[in-house]
Amino acid sequence: MTIKNFIQDVIQHIKNKMFSSRYVVKGKCKKCGQCCSTILLSDENGYIKTQEDFIKLQKENRSVRNFIINGRVEDVDKDSPQYGALLFKCRVLKDDGRCGRYFLRSLFCRDYPSINPYFIQMGGTTLDGCGYYFDVNKKFEEYLKD
Ligand code: SF4
Ligand code: SF4
Repeated sequence: MTIKNFIQDVIQHIKNKMFSSRYVVKGKCKKCGQCCSTILLSDENGYIKTQEDFIKLQKENRSVRNFIINGRVEDVDKDSPQYGALLFKCRVLKDDGRCGRYFLRSLFCRDYPSINPYFIQMGGTTLDGCGYYFDVNKKFEEYLKD
């Protein structure tokens, strides 16, 4: 990872912490490995859909060099921006679904599933079968009103 990528990761991490207080992540990791093998990547033009664009992104961002192509999104509406996007798998994911360098993993990995308020408001959820889920972070008094 370059210094630039590291700084970008730190800024994103801080943003997530600052603007996501309305939501919380609950649950527990089941170590299924899905989140490390069905990764979507994007550049300034949207989701990466070709090998050429992936190679270009790898040159610009060293942190995606650990990924290999693992499939393509085809089970969504053809009008969806995700349709045709490549799915990536991390090389250090072990066969038992655990991370091969858990203590050295990036902030991006540590933050998963990160809270993106817009994504959640639009109905976004964690991956099917993931042990984590998003919930509203209600204050104690709000529970008393329900
Ligand atoms: S998808 Fe969820 S349960 Fe599965 S490894 Fe990732 S965080 Fe854990
Ligand atoms: S470094 Fe570990 S946690 Fe991050 S994507 Fe790879 S296997 Fe998953």
